[in-house]
Amino acid sequence: MITETISFVFFHPSVISHLLLFLCGLAAGSFLNVLIHRLPRGEAMGFSRSHCPSCRRQLGALELIPLFSFLWLRGKCRHCGRPISLRYPFIELLGGVVTVLWGMSFSGTTGKIVYLLLTYALIAVAFIDLEHKIIPNRLTIPFLLAGLVFMAWKGELPAALTGGLLGGGVLFLIVLCYPKGMGMGDVKLLAMIGVYLGWERIFFVLFLASLLATAVALALIAAKKMTRKDPIPFGTFLAFAAFILLYFPDLPRLFFLSIR
Ligand SMILES: [Zn+2]
Repeated sequence: MITETISFVFFHPSVISHLLLFLCGLAAGSFLNVLIHRLPRGEAMGFSRSHCPSCRRQLGALELIPLFSFLWLRGKCRHCGRPISLRYPFIELLGGVVTVLWGMSFSGTTGKIVYLLLTYALIAVAFIDLEHKIIPNRLTIPFLLAGLVFMAWKGELPAALTGGLLGGGVLFLIVLCYPKGMGMGDVKLLAMIGVYLGWERIFFVLFLASLLATAVALALIAAKKMTRKDPIPFGTFLAFAAFILLYFPDLPRLFFLSIR
């Protein structure tokens, strides 16, 4: 029994492939950390070595290992002793978890890898907007254009165009009427999401994001952690809602069946 369990855990092909995906995801999460740090600051995305954000010292090889280095350094820079943000190990772990989830999803879907890249882009957008209240064009525009090419290749260009125009258009109207709440970054983000998800799901993304943003804002205001005047990073909620719809596409049907 024990030997069977051990042989299952260590030698079963799905376990090994999940473990490999998890490790690749950790590395991807580590890259996402660099992206989230550098993109909003306008720093180059080239292959320059990562450095400590406080003392700017370049990181050694051991300090670049995802997750492990955070535990090994006990959350502090080895040089200046300043605490390392918990965001770093969190995003590395998130990268690992979503990559395994991706490996188990999209079976039989053409161009499965594109959805993994889209997932990483959504994570980057979510955390950049959360921290800097901006959504970089350098992420949304390339993913929007690449999405159109990808969907044209799949023979689904009409659906992608409708989704993109409707997603961007609806939010553009909202921004026109209510310019304080959202910006053009959100418009481009929802257009990008619409290209991949199609017009049927775009309204549910908007609905879910609004619902979550309102709930979180009310909770934070009640806890006195936020005032009514603070901006809400709506892009974070749009990206999260798109992630949910991407991995749980049956959600709208379940939701509308339950309220009928
Ligand atoms: Zn340092």
